[in-house]
Amino acid sequence: MTIRTMPADVEVKLHPRARRMTLRFQPRKQVFVVTKPKRTSQKDIAEFVSAHIDWMKEQRTLYPKPGELRPGETLLFLGKNLILMHVEAAGVACKIEDDRLIVACRLPRFERAVQRFLKQQAEVMMTALVHEKASAINKKIKTIRFRDTTSRWGSCARDGRLSFSWRIIMAPIETVDYIVAHEVAHLQHFNHSDRFWDLCERLSKDYETGKKWLQKNAELLQLAF
Ligand SMILES: [Zn+2]
Repeated sequence: MTIRTMPADVEVKLHPRARRMTLRFQPRKQVFVVTKPKRTSQKDIAEFVSAHIDWMKEQRTLYPKPGELRPGETLLFLGKNLILMHVEAAGVACKIEDDRLIVACRLPRFERAVQRFLKQQAEVMMTALVHEKASAINKKIKTIRFRDTTSRWGSCARDGRLSFSWRIIMAPIETVDYIVAHEVAHLQHFNHSDRFWDLCERLSKDYETGKKWLQKNAELLQLAF
């Protein structure tokens, strides 16, 4: 059976270089994204989505929209759980004490304060790692941006512009290090060839651990809040 109307939570994106259609779920936005190659008909898309209806149902149940972060909850930071504590204050300041993250702010700004903390930590740590790894292969960095992306952990343009999801700072250091190595290695090899992976491994501190953790736990980072 083919669906007659496309479900409202399905977005279709054209990907000229794609060879086949793919379907993925973005839990934070609660939408499915179909990527289609050139010359794909509406009928093809409808059939493709129909074939995955059960999987889509399952995804919606498995990954409901994450709630807002509140005091008392735990936050993953460099692979360890921190308990979130709130202190009422006019300004915004965060500090780690033992296994707690103490967030001083006005309560309605709590989640934003935590996000800002994660972004700042990512900027400091990952910028240092980028420069260390880039200089090891004599490459120049133009800019490094930190954003809250949903589909990719990092990206790299040929001219030395790198971009990362600050959410990666929640992962263990081996994973943070691997993601940086991955994007820096793209400055040398703009593909995923064997030579690229060799370099990526060489630039990483513990490539296996870092990569495996991310493959298993990516949702943890996307769905933390
Ligand atoms: Zn890559």
